[in-house]
Amino acid sequence: MTSKSAAAAAGATVYGYPRQGPNRELKRAIEGYWKGRVDAGALRATARELRRANWAQLAEAGIDEVPTGDFSLYDHVLDTTVMVGAIPARHRAAFDADVLTGYFAMARGTQEVAPLEMTKWFDTNYHYLVPELGPDTVFSADSAQQVAELAEALSHGHTPRPVLVGPVTYLLLAKPAPGVDAGFDPLTLLDRLLPVYAEVLADLRAAGAGWVQLDEPALVQDRTPAELNAAGRAYRDLGALTDRPKLLVASYFDELGEALPVLAKAPVEGLALDFTEAAAANLDALAAVGGLPGKRLVAGVVNGRNIWVNDLGTSLSTLGTLLGLADRVDVSASCSLLHVPLDASAERDVDPQILRWLAFAQQKTSETVTLAKGLARGTGAIAAELAANRAALASRANSPITRDPAVRARAAAVTDADARRSQPYGERTAAQRSRLGLPLLPTTTIGSFPQTGDLRTARADLRAGRIGTAGYEDRIRAEIQEVVSFQEKTGIDVLVHGEPERNDMVQYFAERLTGYLATRHGWVQSYGTRYVRPPILAGDISRPEPMTVRWTTYAQSLTDRPVKGMLTGPVTMLAWSFVRDDQPRADTARQVALALRDEVADLETAGTGVIQVDEPALRETLPLRAAGRAGYLAWATEAFRLTTAGVRPDTQIHTHMCYAEFGDIVRAIDDLDADVISLEAARSHMQVARELAAHGYPREAGPGVYDIHSPRVPDAGEVAALLREGLKAIPAERLWVNPDCGLKTRAWPETRASLEHLVTAARTVRAEL
Ligand code: GLN
Ligand code: ZN
Repeated sequence: MTSKSAAAAAGATVYGYPRQGPNRELKRAIEGYWKGRVDAGALRATARELRRANWAQLAEAGIDEVPTGDFSLYDHVLDTTVMVGAIPARHRAAFDADVLTGYFAMARGTQEVAPLEMTKWFDTNYHYLVPELGPDTVFSADSAQQVAELAEALSHGHTPRPVLVGPVTYLLLAKPAPGVDAGFDPLTLLDRLLPVYAEVLADLRAAGAGWVQLDEPALVQDRTPAELNAAGRAYRDLGALTDRPKLLVASYFDELGEALPVLAKAPVEGLALDFTEAAAANLDALAAVGGLPGKRLVAGVVNGRNIWVNDLGTSLSTLGTLLGLADRVDVSASCSLLHVPLDASAERDVDPQILRWLAFAQQKTSETVTLAKGLARGTGAIAAELAANRAALASRANSPITRDPAVRARAAAVTDADARRSQPYGERTAAQRSRLGLPLLPTTTIGSFPQTGDLRTARADLRAGRIGTAGYEDRIRAEIQEVVSFQEKTGIDVLVHGEPERNDMVQYFAERLTGYLATRHGWVQSYGTRYVRPPILAGDISRPEPMTVRWTTYAQSLTDRPVKGMLTGPVTMLAWSFVRDDQPRADTARQVALALRDEVADLETAGTGVIQVDEPALRETLPLRAAGRAGYLAWATEAFRLTTAGVRPDTQIHTHMCYAEFGDIVRAIDDLDADVISLEAARSHMQVARELAAHGYPREAGPGVYDIHSPRVPDAGEVAALLREGLKAIPAERLWVNPDCGLKTRAWPETRASLEHLVTAARTVRAEL
């Protein structure tokens, strides 16, 4: 590879780093603060220390410019809401009285006020809090936190680059505030918002920022001409400011597409593009606009959201091409490393042969630095790294773990009929009704009950060898007994066993499937203080033995009411795992579906009449651009049907999804051919029910009537009102009554009260029918 000396200054950077700390110190500090065990000062000190340690790690690895302002006590979009002063009216008083109290009230709600709505950050499993805006929104700049973090990094001797959510993305992610006309377009507030960004930029410059990064991932989605215009105007205006740092506009998760020429023309000093999956498209588009003369290009060549080692050779060749297209090329991970765990070398249980296929945030940081070095000084400067990288890639390609002939043969033999139920929906409902004998507006839950400290202790004891398997299983059975008896007493119609044996809905299955790898420390932030450990789809997938049958049948043995079997669907198994990147996702999904199909068959044989296959992730994995959607939905829905279609007509298949806006996938949801779907709706006041109805969704549905994301207990009147609202969209014969999602993150007292209210409300509304 030839290295052009003009670009010899190639630097290495990242856009963001995991916030939690090596031992999830942040989670403990925040939850301690909520419980009153940690005071605000101590919480802030923990946060400062974590930032210090992160920057130190980055600098030590050789990162030239460290990100600041990417850290957050809950969510960086919520932080942006604070930064632009868009505090919702209902939170204003609390926020003015005490910033932290108000901040967490917006995030989680209180008994009196509802939180902001939470939704997925693009197609990741990170959730942000949706800004609420209206024609009366008055923005005002509050740069305190950004300035403070910048000052901290400077004081530690780093070159910081503050990272902000860009104004266009901020508005595109917002929704009309409650009470504001649903047709209100937040983007109309751009002219009001830009002066606030101008003020923040001036403050950051005054505080010593040379560059500021403005993240505009919303621009990688299909955008209307008006939206592209707004983006052009935003960066023309911000670029025209005189009192500002240099601006780097960052895009990630996909190709920039039509927005690329807009930003290339804008008077900003740098552009960051994703050169992982979108590499070819972005390269072409960049060449088509004649490159970025006079600008800095930050090339995201290290995938910031998967955990596989980079193919350094491929990245170097991409970087080589880019050298001809910009004034200066820097190397980065493709997006914030927030989406990957901290350190692969902490995984002592992973076979060292496999461990070298993996790269978490720390390893990705090193890859970035290596690539920058190779780019600046030529491949000779990184010969050892390149050799090790080639060996790791070869060992993965040739491993028996990634190629199981039996799994491959079975997947290849799948026919259309395997993915089709023996009777269409309309014909099998009668059989299910007579088998189950449920009332109108049947009540159920989504599966999990509170994962008490007790249960977590039992699991930790089992792992540490303090109790044996028998002792652990006794504990699980006792929990199932309690959960079943509570549900019976409360009058719930379709029971669950409560999932006490599951640490996590994906990891539990991953641990029982061959080809899946679990991590010990691979925590990734899902929302707020909720962290998950996505397992790794590393090889071909098979099921050595049943995974859930004994617990479901045990629960069923305790009651005459139907107990729902509970599985995680194939699409979600992929979406909430790190997926292998050496074969199409569709192939991996089919392997997982076949393994789950065997579990469904075993549950049915054991007498289970209702089986729920959760697919909360169906919507979030939807390709960001419309062009890729049909292909995705085809394999995704086929995988679900392959999982479920083998059952008898009188076995009722449920599915469950959370958080999504469904308008655009109602057809796909129908394509799943499930009998009943439960959805999140409480925070958005049954909008989901209206959307299903508007699209003519013909099946039974349970839009959630209890928001499980907050400790708040809804009263029965409130739940009944939601049900009446739901009945306007979905007829009583097809309406189910359930919470928004599983109850595992809740405590027992609020769970008990809320479910009692839910049953009372169902009875009240049934009586009105
Ligand atoms: N059955 C799961 C539970 O109740 C579903 C969780 C989810 O959809 N996120 O925990
Ligand atoms: Zn859910």
